[in-house]
Amino acid sequence: MKTYDVVIVGGGIIGGSIAFELTQRNLRVAVLDRQELMHEASWAAAGMLSPAPDCPAAIPLVPLGRASLAQYQKFVDAVEDASGLRTGFRTGGAVEVICHGDAGRELSTLVALHHGLGLACEPLPLDEARNMEPALGRDARAAALLPDECSVEPRALTSAVLAAAATTGAALCPGIEVTSLVLEANKCIGVKTSSGEIFYAAQVIVAAGCWSSQISEAAPYAPTLPVRGQMASLRHSGTPIRHVLRSERGYLVPRGVESPQTVVVGSTIENVGYEKCVTSGGIEKILSAANELVPELAKAEIVETWSGLRPGSPDQLPILGPVDVDGLVFATGHYRNGILLAPVTAKLIGQWIAERRTSIDWEAFSPLRFLQARGDRSVTA
Ligand SMILES: Cc1cc2nc3c(=O)[nH]c(=O)nc-3n(C[C@H](O)[C@H](O)[C@H](O)COP(=O)(O)OP(=O)(O)OC[C@H]3O[C@@H](n4cnc5c(N)ncnc54)[C@H](O)[C@@H]3O)c2cc1C
Repeated sequence: MKTYDVVIVGGGIIGGSIAFELTQRNLRVAVLDRQELMHEASWAAAGMLSPAPDCPAAIPLVPLGRASLAQYQKFVDAVEDASGLRTGFRTGGAVEVICHGDAGRELSTLVALHHGLGLACEPLPLDEARNMEPALGRDARAAALLPDECSVEPRALTSAVLAAAATTGAALCPGIEVTSLVLEANKCIGVKTSSGEIFYAAQVIVAAGCWSSQISEAAPYAPTLPVRGQMASLRHSGTPIRHVLRSERGYLVPRGVESPQTVVVGSTIENVGYEKCVTSGGIEKILSAANELVPELAKAEIVETWSGLRPGSPDQLPILGPVDVDGLVFATGHYRNGILLAPVTAKLIGQWIAERRTSIDWEAFSPLRFLQARGDRSVTA
């Protein structure tokens, strides 16, 4: 019989970061994943660490994003120390470029929105923007510097996080699919796998990304939805790009500064179910946005294309915390921000599991909000 303090369903950045946090709290943890670990959204991500909201629905997330960004340096230091692996963490800010519409007005709105949310954002005259980024295209009409934003290499980070969790004692279990939660008298006592085996645990954490909703006992609390994003990676031999660059149409994330440079470009936002593929229209869209930002990229070699499924939720907010079943906790629905939110998610879940308190109010992200919305159960937790 396999028994742990905590079983985590899902070995992406969220499950891995929670495992690392919990092993440091001396808990016996197993991470179960139905395939190789970190092969889904966490592998596909661009790695921008931006707490700025990309739509009005994301505004309630800003304080959580800011808190996570503030913890990032410490988080990557701990992960790199424990794993001996690099994460590609880079500070230095991002540049937001406006190429269309009434650029002056768009810029004022952008700056005011950021300041209203306590986020640093400075208008950047175009000659200064071109000094900072000589490769910036002539279509740029206005620009702003977001000096606190950072980036990371998600594949390197997730590998390092999982290695750090393993080094500190977590059992990483690839190839184990959880088919159901084992419930007994309003308590979750473990999970059942596709081979019929039961992993018993005092706490079960569902961190299965957009597939969380496919575990039937989890679905009422975590009605996650897949949101496809297509990406490409380019080998660029022209003027190196120094910052994350974003426009209304897409973004570029440079990896390193030496030439030839790898530049990751993205992304689409598509509601096409669980179909994970790359389409000619999707790639055309992200490449044309990238070439508009930095026209030299039209000569860059396409090294790789891929797509991933973001764990969306009905209100575009993450799904975090305990529910009205003892021993069951959720950490999913991170949508476009799971790489950014990994440190704060791990910290909050760790505090809850070990201390039954959290240092940040996470009520707005409670999984119980979906039961309340449906009005189909009495809500007690
Ligand atoms: C194209 C793209 C670009 C992105 N860019 C950024 C970005 O720049 N910045 C940012 O912060 N975020 C970004 N994101 C979002 C981020 O990648 C996700 O929010 C994050 O990776 C979610 O992590 P996760 O661990 O919850 O899910 P995942 O990484 O999807 O991991 C879930 C795991 O659960 C496993 N699993 C599923 N069902 C079961 C089961 N029944 N039993 C066992 N295991 C199971 C899966 O195999 C998978 O390994 C991007 C996402 C995409 C797709």
